[in-house]
Amino acid sequence: MGPGDVILTTPFTFIATAEVISVIGAKPAFVDVDPRTFNIDPNRLDEEISRIKKEGREKIRGIIPVDLFGLPADYEAIRSIASRHDLFILEDAAQALGATYKGKKAGALGDVGATSFFPSKPLGCYGDGGAVFTDHDSLAETMRSIRVHGQGKNKYDNVRVGLNARLDTLQAAVLLQKLPRLENEIVRRNEAAARYSAGLSEIVTVPSVPPGSTSAWAQYSILTDHREKLQNHLKEAGIPMAIYYPKPLHMQEAYRQLGLGAGRFPVAEELSRNIVSLPMHPYLTKDQQDFIIEKVKKALC
Ligand SMILES: *Cc1c(COP(=O)(O)O)cnc(C)c1O
Repeated sequence: MGPGDVILTTPFTFIATAEVISVIGAKPAFVDVDPRTFNIDPNRLDEEISRIKKEGREKIRGIIPVDLFGLPADYEAIRSIASRHDLFILEDAAQALGATYKGKKAGALGDVGATSFFPSKPLGCYGDGGAVFTDHDSLAETMRSIRVHGQGKNKYDNVRVGLNARLDTLQAAVLLQKLPRLENEIVRRNEAAARYSAGLSEIVTVPSVPPGSTSAWAQYSILTDHREKLQNHLKEAGIPMAIYYPKPLHMQEAYRQLGLGAGRFPVAEELSRNIVSLPMHPYLTKDQQDFIIEKVKKALC
């Protein structure tokens, strides 16, 4: 893939999702998200494909759905669209390791899945790391080769131009210790999310998890029309919070040349104004959460 090719993705994500498209010379085409799941909206995906095909100038090659905050995108709907148009699906599971969709694990929901082991992810190492998943044998072989500078069957036999994309040995050692704990940590994240939702659903919009899906809860993100007030109160109480993401990708300077800009993806833009992520990790205690819930209530009631 390269110039003239288009890959569809969401504007409500971390820049890395779109970066991989631009880095190979292809063009990202953004598709607005579902206001409840924050993930790419399959209906709008279909519309955008029709629009690009009608224009007929570029070739659409694939879709990169993101499992945002740990919740898998709607792969059944995405798969049916992808098959109809002969597109690949690359799952951005950077935030979703440990989540499930209709009985399958995140990372296994596209043709290829990619995840990140950056410390803020559900399975974090102590620096940078990541992994890709696929069950296509030939793709796996190609990816193994690219990982070590395009190596062929033998060392110093280079069959393609590749990368240094090895997982650092020290980070692998950390991950080997943490991987067996992941399943239990996901259970604990789910318990923490349930406690937040029980305490907050009356005063803010709490995250919704569609039937058939489970989230890895990389983030627990609420929506409120009074974000600034909430931010100030939480800061005063010493409660850390974060905004993912304050600016959708189509409004970033880096993508100005796409000529999109404000008003183009209203759902993503509205979310970027109203969203707040509360502290979330597997070792939050009930007391800590009660304290946070009380402070949120105090700020907004
Ligand atoms: C963290 C993240 C990435 C990239 O991870 P790196 O390890 O920094 O390459 C990609 N996509 C999403 C949605 C992420 O949250």
